[in-house]
Amino acid sequence: MTLAGKTAIITGSNSGIGLGIARELARAGADVVLNSFTDSDEDHQLARDIATEFGVSARYVSADMSKPDQCRALVEQAGACDILVNNAGIQHVAAIDEFPTEKWDAIIAINLSSAFHTTAAALPGMREAGWGRVVNIASAHGLTASPYKSAYIAAKHGVVGLSKTTALETAGQGITCNAICPGYVLTPLVESQIPDQMKAHDMDRDTVVKEVMLARQPSKEFATVEQLGGTTVFLCSPAADQITGTTISVDGGWTAL
Ligand code: NAD
Repeated sequence: MTLAGKTAIITGSNSGIGLGIARELARAGADVVLNSFTDSDEDHQLARDIATEFGVSARYVSADMSKPDQCRALVEQAGACDILVNNAGIQHVAAIDEFPTEKWDAIIAINLSSAFHTTAAALPGMREAGWGRVVNIASAHGLTASPYKSAYIAAKHGVVGLSKTTALETAGQGITCNAICPGYVLTPLVESQIPDQMKAHDMDRDTVVKEVMLARQPSKEFATVEQLGGTTVFLCSPAADQITGTTISVDGGWTAL
């Protein structure tokens, strides 16, 4: 399938899942706009590398997704937005009664409110074009909970709810909105935690991955950033024209438990 002629904005895409999704959208022919708040030479190089590898237009636009104005400015600066992937996210782990207020505020702003602001900015252009895709990266934690992750879980449940409302407000307009709910994904950040976990539990790599890190993931395999990119490309395909306002779990069976 080809997404040639479509422009995709992927928030938080200078690493991990966002970068994986950007690469798969570019492989499918979309022009891509990468984003983070760092604005480093490496960020701009990532965009040049994607342009060279896939023969699409790719650029990096710096914007801090904790700031409403910058969320909206990102969509404006992209010039076009046929596909919006709200992926930027952070985590903090602490009990509710010890959870720092500034961490709660930052997680709600980056993981939830940014998706509201970018969507609000992108919908008028999508309506004008009569076609649009909003893909929100939620989490298995958008459907289930764990202790000590109150802000993240509240934000991700919020993202699932926002996706449903966006779908209802755009139904019949050629626009769809869905949330992808990944389980544990093998990103560079997760990969880098494996040696410490092996040491802490005195286990080999395979055992620590299966018994500690993937304790809640029945497949005992990580999801990959390529699989999340492929799911996003699918949601942008004609086969998904009537898929809207729902969640797609990519979690090795986590939420079936
Ligand atoms: P990551 O840390 O590699 O990526 C997070 C991205 O968000 C980075 O590009 C970072 O620059 C960006 N970001 C952070 N704060 C930002 C800000 N203020 N403004 C703009 N960009 C900002 O992590 P990841 O694992 O790739 O996570 C991506 C998304 O997937 C997140 O929403 C996360 O909650 C979700 N997710 C991850 C997993 C997993 O196992 N890795 C599982 C479920 C859901």
